[in-house]
Amino acid sequence: MKNNPVIAMLVTVSLIMTKNVSFSQKANQIIPFDTGTRMGKLANGFTYYIRRNLTPEKKAVFYLINKVGSVLETEKQQGLAHLLEHMAFNGTVHFPKTEIINYLQNKGVRIGADVNAYTDFNETVFQLPIPINDKKLFKNAFYIIRDWAQGITLEDEEINKEKGVILAEMRQHSGAAQRIKAKTKPYLFNRSIYAQRPPLGKQEVIKSFKNEDLRSFYQDWYRPDLQAIVIAGDININEVEDMIVAIFSNLKNPSERKIRPQFTIPLDGKNQFVTVTDPEVPTTQVEITIKHPRNELKTRDDFRRNLLRKLFNTMATNRINELLAQDKVPFLAANVNIGKFVANLDAFVSRMNCDGERLENALKAYWIELMKIKKYGFTRYELQKAKTALLSGIELNYKERDKRPSENYAKECLAHFLEGIATPGQGYEMQMYKTMIPEITAEEIQLEIVNKYLTQQNRDIIIVCNTSQKHTLPNEQQFLNWLKQIEQKPLDKYLGTKPVRLVLMNNLPPPGRIIAEQSLEDIGIRELILANGIKILLKPTNFKEDQIVFRGFSLGGLSIVNDLDFYEGRLAADLVNMSGVANHSPLELENILVGKNLNVTPYIEDISQGIEGTSTKKDLETALQLVYLYLTSPRKDSTTFTHLKNQIKLTNHFSKTIPTQIFQDTIQAVMGNYHFRKMKMPESRIDALNLDKILKIYKDRFADVSGMNFILTGSFNVDSVKPLLIKYLGAIPALHRHETIRNLRHKYPSGRISKKIAKGNEPKAIVFLSYSGSFDYHIKNILQMRALSNILKTRLITKLREDQGGIYTADVSLIANKLPSGQYNYAINFVCAPKNTEALILLVNAEIINLKEHGPSIDEINKYISTEKGIWSSLLISNDFWRDYITGKLMYGEKLKFPEVGRIEKELSIESQKDTAIRFFSNQNYVKLVLVPESGK
Ligand SMILES: [Zn+2]
Repeated sequence: MKNNPVIAMLVTVSLIMTKNVSFSQKANQIIPFDTGTRMGKLANGFTYYIRRNLTPEKKAVFYLINKVGSVLETEKQQGLAHLLEHMAFNGTVHFPKTEIINYLQNKGVRIGADVNAYTDFNETVFQLPIPINDKKLFKNAFYIIRDWAQGITLEDEEINKEKGVILAEMRQHSGAAQRIKAKTKPYLFNRSIYAQRPPLGKQEVIKSFKNEDLRSFYQDWYRPDLQAIVIAGDININEVEDMIVAIFSNLKNPSERKIRPQFTIPLDGKNQFVTVTDPEVPTTQVEITIKHPRNELKTRDDFRRNLLRKLFNTMATNRINELLAQDKVPFLAANVNIGKFVANLDAFVSRMNCDGERLENALKAYWIELMKIKKYGFTRYELQKAKTALLSGIELNYKERDKRPSENYAKECLAHFLEGIATPGQGYEMQMYKTMIPEITAEEIQLEIVNKYLTQQNRDIIIVCNTSQKHTLPNEQQFLNWLKQIEQKPLDKYLGTKPVRLVLMNNLPPPGRIIAEQSLEDIGIRELILANGIKILLKPTNFKEDQIVFRGFSLGGLSIVNDLDFYEGRLAADLVNMSGVANHSPLELENILVGKNLNVTPYIEDISQGIEGTSTKKDLETALQLVYLYLTSPRKDSTTFTHLKNQIKLTNHFSKTIPTQIFQDTIQAVMGNYHFRKMKMPESRIDALNLDKILKIYKDRFADVSGMNFILTGSFNVDSVKPLLIKYLGAIPALHRHETIRNLRHKYPSGRISKKIAKGNEPKAIVFLSYSGSFDYHIKNILQMRALSNILKTRLITKLREDQGGIYTADVSLIANKLPSGQYNYAINFVCAPKNTEALILLVNAEIINLKEHGPSIDEINKYISTEKGIWSSLLISNDFWRDYITGKLMYGEKLKFPEVGRIEKELSIESQKDTAIRFFSNQNYVKLVLVPESGK
C-alpha cells in the first residue's frame, strides 16, 4: 500500500509562504514534513523515506532503522541487541557467513568507514552508502537491508565466534571514562532501566547466554511496525518506491506481538550529590546536571524554544570564555550547555575543571558567574552578538542547500522516525529563523530559559577527582554551603566589555604587485608571483557554493630553531594564535569577527611554518587581513601565556599516572631515538619558558615570506581575488634570505627493540609494532607501500578479529617522508586481552611473512583497487584535498600535475606487493612495545 502525503503538504506550505505576517500568531502550529522527501508506510507497518539528492553524484545512502535497543533486553539478554547488530555481518539469507563484507569490499565499500551500524538504548541503525552506477549492487543493497530486517541467520558457530569480538570491543572501550560512567549513571538515570542496560551489555551475559535468547530477541523485536528504511541520493523516487513495495511488503509481524514499551527516566524532583575518585583523571571536575522533560521539536513553539536555548548556550559560553581570558582565574576550563540528555529528558549541564587543591575557590568563582546570569540575565549587546553569529551560520548553510550531502537528509529522516522531530526542509526552516530571531529579546530568554532551566530541583552534582586528591573532596553539606555563600552575596551586575571600534586594520600597508603570471592548464591552476617573492597558486572550483580554503607555507620550521630555544619554538604558534593579534586582545578580536565565517591559524612544524584557514567569498578580505596581521604583528599577551603554562604543568604532572599516556610517551621517545626534540618538555623546563623569546622566534619564522607558496582553492573568481591578494599578501615584507630546511639527521631507531610497560589495572594490553628505515622517496614506492598497509590492515582484521575473536580492530599506519631525508615507518596497533598478547603478535608476524613469501591474493588486490576508486571520487571534489595535494607537491619540489588516479591499478600486482613487503617489512629495524596491567593479567 502506498501512502502519498506530498500533495497535502504542498498545500500547507504554500499557504504559509504567502502569509508571512501571521507567523507569530500561528506560533504553536505543527511544523510540516519536508515536501522533498517521500514518506510512506506499507500495510505491515514498515515505514520508508525516499529523497532524491545529487550530492554526492552517483551515490546513495541506505539506512535501516529499528526502534529496538538495549532497553528491550531481559536480564538474560543484556548486550544482545548489540551482538545482534554484529551478527548482521555474519550470515544472512542471501549472503551466508561473511559474504556481505566480502561482497561490499569487492565493490569498494569500506567496512567501518562506509558501511556502519550502531546500537543505543532505543535504537539500532545500519548505514550503507553505495555507488549507484552498478545496477546489480544497487539492487543488492535492497536485499542486504531486507536481510538485516528479517533474514539474519544466527548460526551457532558464527554467534560463538562473535562473542570474542564483543568482549574485545568492551575491552577497547574500558578505561577511566568507562569506570566513572559506571559509578555515576545510577544517579544520572535515576535508577531507571537506562542505568541497568548499557548498550554494550554485561561481560558475564556475553560469555554465557543461550543462543535461543538471541534468536527470540530478533524475532520479538525486528519487525516491520518498528522498522524504517531511508534511501537518499542520486535515485529515481518512483522506481525506489516500487522496489520497496516489492521487497519489503512480505516482512512479517510476529503472530503474538509484544507491546514495545516506552521507557522513561522519572523526574522526582530530588537533588543528588556524588563524588568519584579515579587514579587516571588529570584534573578535578565538577559537573552539575539539571534534568528537564524533553523539548520535542514538533511545533513552531518547540522550534522557538530551541532557538532560545541555542542563543543561551552561545551567550553563556562567551561569558565563561571571557572569564577564562582574565588574569588569575582559579579554574582551568568550564562549559555550559542546554541540550538533549537521554530518553525523555533534556538537561542543563555545566562542567568546571580545576586543580583539586583549589576546588573551593574555583567553584565559587565559577558559581558567581552562573548566579549573575540567573539574577541579571544577558545584556543587549551579548544577545545581538549571539544572534549575528547564529544567523550568519544558518545563512551559509542555506547557501549550500543544493550541495547538501545525502547523509544529512538521511539523518533528518532518522530523527523523524525515532522521535518525530520536524524536518520541514531548508526553505521553511530559513523562514522560521528569519522571522523568529529578530523577535527574541533578552527578557524572553530570561523567562523561558534561565528561569526554567537553571533550577534547584532534579539537580545532580558529580565531582570527579584523582585518587591522590581525595582529601580535597567536600561532603554534600560543605559543597552546598559554598554555593549558598555565593547565592546570598550581593552580586555586581555584569556590564561586559564595551563594543570597541570594530575595525581589524586601520592603516592599510602599501600594496605589492604581481611580477609574473602563468596558467597551469592541466591542473586548472593560475600561478602569480608577487614582488616580495610569494608564489600564489589559485585553483577555483565549484565543489561548494561558498567555500574558500587556503594555506601559505615556507620551508624551515623548527629545524632552524636552535636547541636551546626549541621548546619556546614548539609553543610559539599556538600561543600567538590564542593571544589576539596586533593591538586587539583575544576578546576584542572575537567581537570583530562575530558573524563572519572564517578562521585563520598560524603554525610552525618540524620542517615548515605557515598559515592556513577557510572563509566565504564575502569574508575573504577579512581573512587576508588576519593573515597579514598574524605574520607581521603577533600580539604579546602575558595572561594567555600564564594560562598556557599552568595547563601544561597540570597535564604534565598527572599524565605520569595515566597508563595510556605513559605508553604514548614511551612510543614517542623510542621512535624518536630519545632525541629531546621528539619528547615531552621536562617539567623543570616549564617555568623557564620565556615569553619574549617565544615571540622573537615566532617573528623570525615569519620574517621572510620570499619563499612562501600560498595556495587558494574554492569558490572564487581569479580576477576578483587578485586585487585582495596584491593588497594584503603583496604588502608583507620579505628578507630574501633563501631559507631552507636544516637536516638534523633524525633517524628511527635501528636494530630490534622490545619493551613491556606494566601500568594500571584495567585488564587490557595495548600493542605497538613498528617497521622502519630509510628509503628512496618516489611515488612508485609510495603507491605500493600505501596499498600494502591497507591490505595488511584488512588481513589483520580478518584473521585477528573475525577468525580469532581476539581484537575489536587493528590499525596499520604508514608515515613516509621525503624531507629532510627519505624515511618510512609502518606502525601496527591493537588492543587485546593481556594473556593473548604474544600469540596475536605471532599471528601478525605470520601474516607479514606470508605477504613476503606469497604476496596478497588477486582478490585482496581487487578489493583495494575498488576501494581506492571510491576514495578518489570523493577526494577530487574536495577543496581540502586540493589544498593538501598542492602543498605536498610544492613542498617536495615535484611537478604540479593532475593526480595519476588510475596508476595504482596498472602497477599493483602480487609480485609488486611481495617485493614491497620484502623491502619495507625487513627485520632490521623492528620495535615492539606492549602496555600491560601491573598484575600482568
Ligand atoms: Zn560493536
